Amino acid sequence: MALTSESRNQSWKDWFLLLFLLSAATLACLLLDPYVSLTSLSMLYVLAVVLVSSRLGRSHSVLAAFAAVAALNFFFVPPRWTFQVERSEHFIALLTMLVLALVINHLASGMRRETEMARLNETRARQLQSLAIALADADTPQAVKLLGQRALDTAFSGTNTLALFEADASELDLPLELPNAIRDGLRCCLKEAVVLGAGTGRWTELDAWYIPLGELRQGRELSGAVCIQAVAGDDESGREHAVALCSMLAQALWRLRLSVAMQAAQREAQKQQLQGIFLAAISHDLRTPLAVVVGAASALQLQHDKLSVLEQQRLLTSIVNEAGHLANLTENTLQLVRLANSAQPLTRDWESMEEITGSVLARIRQYDSSRRIVSKVPDSLPLVRVDAVLISQLISNLLENALKYTDAAIHLVVSLETQVEGENLLVSVKDRGPGISEAELATIFDAYSRGDHSERSQQRGSGLGLAVCRAIAQAHGGSLILRRRSGGGSSFILSLPLTLEQPFKQGEQP
Ligand code: ADP
Repeated sequence: MALTSESRNQSWKDWFLLLFLLSAATLACLLLDPYVSLTSLSMLYVLAVVLVSSRLGRSHSVLAAFAAVAALNFFFVPPRWTFQVERSEHFIALLTMLVLALVINHLASGMRRETEMARLNETRARQLQSLAIALADADTPQAVKLLGQRALDTAFSGTNTLALFEADASELDLPLELPNAIRDGLRCCLKEAVVLGAGTGRWTELDAWYIPLGELRQGRELSGAVCIQAVAGDDESGREHAVALCSMLAQALWRLRLSVAMQAAQREAQKQQLQGIFLAAISHDLRTPLAVVVGAASALQLQHDKLSVLEQQRLLTSIVNEAGHLANLTENTLQLVRLANSAQPLTRDWESMEEITGSVLARIRQYDSSRRIVSKVPDSLPLVRVDAVLISQLISNLLENALKYTDAAIHLVVSLETQVEGENLLVSVKDRGPGISEAELATIFDAYSRGDHSERSQQRGSGLGLAVCRAIAQAHGGSLILRRRSGGGSSFILSLPLTLEQPFKQGEQP
């Protein structure tokens, strides 16, 4: 492999440092020579070798050890300025110095390797940690892929390929320019679901690692595969780091798959619930009034002549009542289904609550002959962005319930409420009827939930009205709550959030 300019520069610096340290030792020895013994001079050379070993690689250090022994011999061991050694004691001293320098060199390179390893492991641990944090926010496979590719490129200097399965397909999404050898490697590691390549025991002749994303266990599927090129078989810790990165990516991809599957299951459960509502309505609530209508209508048709005017009137009244109940039940059931199906948006517009309550009251007062509903609606209320038909239905349901369950006065009050999060418009319907027991409070808004007092008094109803009211409130981003009133009765409070910007009314200047 050709040297890059950066590594060439580094190599020159290493040689320069080696030369500099040996020259410095020689100079120091020349200066000290008249005053100290040969043994002391040799120690200065050993010091230079130690410094070289602690900074440079093994080859530089071994060379420095031999060069130091040669320099000591040449400059200071008699006969000086030659490489000859006359006395055996000098020969032993030089040999001992060489062995000492090589041992120190061996120990220093070991220590340096361990320090480098510790530093590398720390960097890798930090990389895994920051990847884990980043992956927690990734909400699409593409985001995971981007983070994964970046992490691989930071950790490994060769070419790295990260391939995921295409959505709803069994084929890997591979770039067109990817060489066939890498395509085959990725496919093979997916087929065998194991790590392949240098140092793994399989395909060891390659200088790359092929790592599958995920494990084939507990019904899990693989999400893709990674190829890391230009790696060494003996770089076990590098391979472990690559496998750790891949397993993190695989977990993030699996989490995304699970959340998609969970959302689908939730949608399916919602669908089943809606079907349940329909079935329940058809199987019980629709059947009984329909049977009454059919029975009364056929009696009128077949025995018209035999029935007195009073009996005919009674049958007609029961047909009208049951048909009305059927219409109400069907409308509420359909409304609930429509609201639960979030795909259908509301038809919102800027509306005045004064006008909505006014039209509801005008209609309801037709059959509130004793005019029990007392309304209190301030004049200058801000406009609300709502579906007027739905909000009218909600207020009508609450007022009709109050009329049904109490004989006393009913209060319809509209007011403003200021909260930390913003302003809300409140619509309250208060009565002094039988109220709702503490035990029923939690379930009274559920579909088909009816209060004990209604069942006891055999009061006509379907238990859908309040469920529809709450669904309408929630579809508007608001809420509907029920408070038991001290002194008896109920207070239903609709809260609608108000937006800060208000539209300009006709005639107003912007
Ligand atoms: P329905 O009135 O058809 O039974 P709703 O969903 O409108 O169904 O009401 C559910 C139950 O809540 C009723 O059966 C009744 O027991 C109770 N309820 C609703 N409104 C009032 C009220 N104003 N006072 C007392 N009970 C009420």
